[in-house]
Amino acid sequence: MTATPPLPYPNADAPSQDLIAACVHCGFCLPTCPTYAVLGVEMDSPRGRIRLMKTVWEHRLGADAPGLEDHISKCLDCRACETACPSGVEYGKLVEGARSQIVVARPRSPIERLIRAAAFEWLLPHRRALGTFATLSIAAKRLGMGSLLRATRLGVARRMADLLDLLPAHSTATRSATISARGTRRARVAMLEGCVMGSVFGETNAATARVLARNGVEVIATVDQTCCGALHAHAGERELARDLARRNIAAFEQVTADAVIVNAAGCGAAMKEYGWLLKDDPAWSARASAFAAKVKDATEFLGDLGMSERPGTLHARVTWDDPCHLLHGQKIRDQPRALLSAIPGLEVVPLAEADWCCGSAGTYNVTQPDLARSILERKVANIVRTGADTVVTANPGCLMQIQSGLRQAGHKVRVVHLMDLLDEAYRTG
Ligand code: SF4
Ligand code: SF4
Repeated sequence: MTATPPLPYPNADAPSQDLIAACVHCGFCLPTCPTYAVLGVEMDSPRGRIRLMKTVWEHRLGADAPGLEDHISKCLDCRACETACPSGVEYGKLVEGARSQIVVARPRSPIERLIRAAAFEWLLPHRRALGTFATLSIAAKRLGMGSLLRATRLGVARRMADLLDLLPAHSTATRSATISARGTRRARVAMLEGCVMGSVFGETNAATARVLARNGVEVIATVDQTCCGALHAHAGERELARDLARRNIAAFEQVTADAVIVNAAGCGAAMKEYGWLLKDDPAWSARASAFAAKVKDATEFLGDLGMSERPGTLHARVTWDDPCHLLHGQKIRDQPRALLSAIPGLEVVPLAEADWCCGSAGTYNVTQPDLARSILERKVANIVRTGADTVVTANPGCLMQIQSGLRQAGHKVRVVHLMDLLDEAYRTG
């Protein structure tokens, strides 16, 4: 009797064989892949990575193989390949599945375990701790700590210096609050505070609520909500991502709202996939799918609802950069452009490769600093070519990455969230 070989992947989060089978190896995705453009290596393309995942299923490569981790880690999870794929391959689910298996299969060093625990367990899910960390880091940046860390030439210190470079000049924190609709109420929504948005870009959360209220939308406070878990899922920490998803679902079930509004594209994409994340949990899968159906990006919601109040005039030459997880993750393209065009006085100029990643990609700019820098340089060059004085986007990672790239290249171009720009236009009006 022949013994059945053990499963090649450690657990049920493994990249689905059905999703892998959808790839017909046509290669249409290759010209859209930023890592393939930089490295020119098949195994650093979507098709090559899918092939690697299949090779593990065929027992020809271990889930703990360093080569597998290397190529999977270099993927941005930007999902541009999904948009390009004529066969509908859901690449984001595949790569996050592969990462979850590598995390379990390959033993981590004590320092790696400590860094992951600090980021994913002690900071991101705890707003107060993350806020304190952000405030101290910004203070350290102002005191020139980045240069000191870089001078040590130690790998960990340089990564910390890279992290400081990304931070904005100041942070603001907000808590979820109820804001009444102006005029006739057209909708009632709850809003995700978010970990980074809530503790660093709190003013953008407040601006989002004000813009919605201006347009007849009541925003209601939601207590007990937490980090969405996108960064955890992105880094292969599926169990932690599921815990956070359950907490958010339970929190938002406490309020009656037409939609759950998110102003961070990465968070919105992850929350729209809570049904997939919890599909194997019988107690939560239906609740997760019902919750996911209510999640809307702020630009998507307002764009579809239509503006009831005309913004005031702003004079600037602006360009729009699509966050990957808005365009490729959520397929939202037209609404943010329509909102931008609705602000009188703006000259909106197109950005070449607006649909290309900026290299932020969750924690990519810290874990893959050299590749992230190459990808960012391409974005900065495209922005500079537009002659715009303002870049508009809708994700905290993109805001920090693009601002840092422009600053380091010596360009005084403002980078702003679309909701902040709309709020500014309403206030001038
Ligand atoms: S997600 Fe982005 S980086 Fe990864 S394979 Fe697809 S296009 Fe390339
Ligand atoms: S992922 Fe899609 S576009 Fe890329 S090779 Fe496979 S089938 Fe073709």
